[in-house]
Amino acid sequence: MKIAILSRNRHLYSTRRLVEEGINKGHDVKVIDALHCSMNITSADPRIHYHEEVLENFDVVIPRIGASVTFYGTAVLRQFEMMGVFPLNESVAITRSRDKLRSLQLLARKGVGMPVTGFANKPDNVPELLQMVGGAPVVIKLLQGTQGIGVVLAETRKAAESVIEAFMGLKADILVQEFIKEAGGADIRCFVIGDKVIAAMKRQGGEGEFRSNLHRGGTASLVRITPQERRTAIAAAKAMGLNVAGVDLLRSSRGPLVMEVNSSPGLEGIETATGKNIAGMIINWTEKNQKPWKTRTKGGGG
Ligand code: ADP
Repeated sequence: MKIAILSRNRHLYSTRRLVEEGINKGHDVKVIDALHCSMNITSADPRIHYHEEVLENFDVVIPRIGASVTFYGTAVLRQFEMMGVFPLNESVAITRSRDKLRSLQLLARKGVGMPVTGFANKPDNVPELLQMVGGAPVVIKLLQGTQGIGVVLAETRKAAESVIEAFMGLKADILVQEFIKEAGGADIRCFVIGDKVIAAMKRQGGEGEFRSNLHRGGTASLVRITPQERRTAIAAAKAMGLNVAGVDLLRSSRGPLVMEVNSSPGLEGIETATGKNIAGMIINWTEKNQKPWKTRTKGGGG
């Protein structure tokens, strides 16, 4: 196969591993920085220009699009789709999963368990909003945040009201969520490929920290997940339309609750914690499932 990996930096662990495994399995692999692609988006014959060349004859595109370049990155991915190239994850699915509110609404519609979550736009709704999610303690999240930045635990009603008012005063979009105390500062990352969870790890926040993000000093370890957790992770990835996803679950007293579905899950933490060759599994799955003109994006032949 001729594989394009959309990534800003070939030295990043995940990109490097995908290149390595692609080459190991005899494929032709090229790393492409989406921000350096230019496209004639009105042409009936869609093309992508990259530096001095025209990108042609790719079978597969593996998007590794960072949150900060979602807009342009998914546009380039869409152009690949319009050229009939098989995307590991479709542009529409990535866009969906990047929008926290939209993804939670989709998960709710599919009956996937998640923490009780509220959203409001006007500060005059604050007490009602808090009541809707069961009152303090609550977790308040900035919709634009990643890696745990802008995720705040408000332990009392007063604290919650002040934080919500402050965020709203800054015109930031937020959601308010029931605090799952029994998760004990840990979450479970389930790595989904196709319709299977192929690896899982538990991330535990540092001492006194309710956020388990590895970027915030959390530690990862191998974990056995329950059949219910497995089903929940698969249902969440499917609801988003993602072939490859990192589904983050909280272990609550009423079962697994989905917090987030990540469309470009990192490989370093999970390969290290589980000792599995996940990049290799991604390439294997792609070999078996890739077909031209398979996306829902309207284009030439698809
Ligand atoms: P980000 O997308 O910025 O990583 P998350 O929504 O994943 O933000 O939250 C960061 C961390 O905070 C999670 O990994 C989890 O450990 C903790 N957390 C988030 N929401 C809740 C909640 N409702 N109850 C308990 N802990 C939570």
